[in-house]
Amino acid sequence: MINRASIEAERGEHTHYVVPTTVEKRCRRCLSIWPCEQSQILDLALRAEGYRKALEDCIEALNVEDNRLRRQHPDPDFAHMVQSLGERIGYGVVMTEASRLWFEKAGSGAFSVGHCIAIQESAWEAARAALEETR
Ligand SMILES: [Zn+2]
Repeated sequence: MINRASIEAERGEHTHYVVPTTVEKRCRRCLSIWPCEQSQILDLALRAEGYRKALEDCIEALNVEDNRLRRQHPDPDFAHMVQSLGERIGYGVVMTEASRLWFEKAGSGAFSVGHCIAIQESAWEAARAALEETR
């Protein structure tokens, strides 16, 4: 299986040395002029793994599927209270003020108010499509 660890292990075998009495560098494994083709390919593969991880983190952070599910199931105990407050003072005020208060209490572990649903879903779709291309 190809993964970051296997790529790093193979990349670790392609190191260079300076050919004695010259300034020429060669790969210890392939003996090709440095940087060897294999080390360059492996460096690109490591960069691609970094991009893949970043995309996976973005997809997880956007949390679109959980948010869709949550919107379909109102909280039986509190939905009516939040609705009443949101209708009275505005949903944006409820969300940003709740986020601010939670941040004061819990720091970076608190939920935050982000972009609107359409923008989040669009970014989520784009990140998923880009991730699919790496497979
Ligand atoms: Zn090499």
